[in-house]
Amino acid sequence: MRDSQSHSSGAPDRASRRLLVVGMARSGIAAAKLAVSQGHRVVCTDRRPDAPVVPGTESVYGAHRLEDFLGADAIIVSPGVPAALPELRAAVAAGVEVVGELAWAAEQLACPILAVSGTNGKSTTTHLLAQLCANAGMRSFEGGNIGRPLSEAVNGEWEVAVVEVSSYQMELPGRFRPRAAAILNLTPDHLERHGTMEAYGAHKCRMFARMGPDDAAIVPNGDARLRRLADEHPGKRFLLGSHPGVTIEGDRLVLRGVHDPGEVPLAGFTLPGNHNVENLAAAVLLAMFAGLWRRDLDVSRLGGLPHRMELVHEAGGVRWIDDSKATNVDSAVACYQGFVGPFVALLGGAGKAGAQYDVLAPALRNARHVLCFGADGPVIQAALARNEVPASLVPTLGAAIEAARAAARGGDTVILSPACASFDEFRDFEDRGRFFRVRVRGVPAITAST
Ligand code: ADP
Repeated sequence: MRDSQSHSSGAPDRASRRLLVVGMARSGIAAAKLAVSQGHRVVCTDRRPDAPVVPGTESVYGAHRLEDFLGADAIIVSPGVPAALPELRAAVAAGVEVVGELAWAAEQLACPILAVSGTNGKSTTTHLLAQLCANAGMRSFEGGNIGRPLSEAVNGEWEVAVVEVSSYQMELPGRFRPRAAAILNLTPDHLERHGTMEAYGAHKCRMFARMGPDDAAIVPNGDARLRRLADEHPGKRFLLGSHPGVTIEGDRLVLRGVHDPGEVPLAGFTLPGNHNVENLAAAVLLAMFAGLWRRDLDVSRLGGLPHRMELVHEAGGVRWIDDSKATNVDSAVACYQGFVGPFVALLGGAGKAGAQYDVLAPALRNARHVLCFGADGPVIQAALARNEVPASLVPTLGAAIEAARAAARGGDTVILSPACASFDEFRDFEDRGRFFRVRVRGVPAITAST
């Protein structure tokens, strides 16, 4: 056993166990490959008949076989597969160990894990934190719910693993024990799977459940529910927006209650929007638990991710920002309200169930122009009109871009932060973002769905 995280998997006592991997998307494939490399007997199962085959495993595709679930020594579950799957419930009832892919991989890692969760900002914060660690000279793995599944970290020589954690991944948390874990924020999303906000929050807080007294459970000061839930768990509580924890004070961050308390200047940090300063604050606080010191942190060398407040074009004094990843109302509110300077807003697409667009209005009061498009365009326009924010209606994102081109003046920023999913016009938010980038640059849109 290498450390307190290495309870069992990967150690000799697990050699040649019968492992069942359920759900053969990226995480399941990575887990199956790792399990094969460790000498386990591996069965993979997926309801899709054409799921990818992992060499060295037995594939049971098209339908699940209950005997595979009941006969396994342990079951590794992809985040896309709900824990409520009847076969999984039957296995749990029969005493079979059932664990999510992330937790299964985490148990086998020797390095500390820094975990990032929340409704919005996870990927950006994970990326900022991984860069802070890497730029400080640490061998830093970045992955989990974004990019590489954690199973891909297990055979690497990492000094820290920076892991984005979704609520789905905490349905089967096993013995997941991060050194520090942050929940950035919690607003209604994925409620079709979790039911209530209380259940959603409780799922997220499972990250804290196995912590020791020196591990850090980080939650926003402004969220009383999360503060209470964090207090029910064993880790030491740190706050985003108060102390012990981190605050944003003018042009600096202030850390208190950590091993290197004091100020971290924001000079040189270039990601647009106040919410990105909040994401950086969380990343800096988490970095303390990788053992970094303030002098190790260089905030001027940090880049963002595609489709998150990404500057994709600048011409005629007009800047064009792709925030296509803003697929829910709260992320779009965070984007627009944190924006300084004149802007044209592009909003619309396939709205999430029960989305309340009225809350967008205060963040859009200073917009030069608001354009609503796509399936939910008329609903958004009506909500804004109720709140005395004028907005124009156009059928598609393509039409919205052309209208924005006509409306924008030198010095303006045109922002696509749509508050909706993209499925009415595009395959996903990335497809939508690529379409936006190509169109605003004036190049024929080869990938265009419209
Ligand atoms: P996630 O991985 O949680 O979906 P991302 O970093 O991909 O988060 O950002 C998704 C969207 O959420 C971005 O497009 C941005 O508009 C918005 N966003 C980013 N950070 C925050 C934050 N701290 N609070 C609210 N919204 C945010």
